[in-house]
Amino acid sequence: MATRRVAIAILGEDPRVASVAAEALELMGLELAGVKVHSVPVPCLDEAREQLRAECVAAFVRSVVEESLVALGIVGADAYVPGLNFVFGLALPSLRVATVYTPRLRIGASYNLFRERLVKEVMHELGHVYGLSHCPNRLCVMSFSNSLLEVDMKRPAFCRRCASLLRRAGLEPRALLE
Ligand SMILES: [Zn+2]
Ligand SMILES: [Zn+2]
Repeated sequence: MATRRVAIAILGEDPRVASVAAEALELMGLELAGVKVHSVPVPCLDEAREQLRAECVAAFVRSVVEESLVALGIVGADAYVPGLNFVFGLALPSLRVATVYTPRLRIGASYNLFRERLVKEVMHELGHVYGLSHCPNRLCVMSFSNSLLEVDMKRPAFCRRCASLLRRAGLEPRALLE
């Protein structure tokens, strides 16, 4: 069972986004273990695409956080994985690391809408770390989204099934869909 303690690494982003990520932790019954600020890892940059390689960034985030903690990276640059044009985030559950990329979440967004999108994406990626897969319920935060429309459609909350799986993983999710 993964620890409930999560450390945040901010990469190339305003450190104040940590408070937004902390909201997401609270909604999942997770504990904030600390916040560190780093620059974007240059070796992870794909210069031809002008995007970060998300798997490389996840490994970097894992490497800067104490091994006993779950690692969460909030990254102020765009990223992709092979086969997708971009990703909003990437989790590697076996390494207990989650990453979320902010630039696309700001598109067409007021600060409040950006915050809401970031909360949802952090919940989604951490949900993967705690064993959840994608959920067919379009309102559930674990539903897959590859467009802002889909991000905006889902709620910052877990459906009944996802919530019960999180409880089995030792969490106390507070944000539940009706
Ligand atoms: Zn996902
Ligand atoms: Zn669900």
